[in-house]
Amino acid sequence: MNLDRFSQGRDPQQEQAIAVCEQCREEIYPGEQIHRTAGGNILCGNHLCVIKFCQVEEINSDELEVA
Ligand SMILES: [Zn+2]
Repeated sequence: MNLDRFSQGRDPQQEQAIAVCEQCREEIYPGEQIHRTAGGNILCGNHLCVIKFCQVEEINSDELEVA
């Protein structure tokens, strides 16, 4: 079976992916709201991809070490 990439409910005949998220490899289609980093990397609309790609940590402020 070689149909994995077509199993997400999208009809590949209908739309042509124009880019791929550099974090999760999800295909990006025309008209989608996506992210572009300062370095020009293209990421999908999922903010978790931005957080992971930029190696940003989500922490509680209680974890901050106060000098
Ligand atoms: Zn992504």
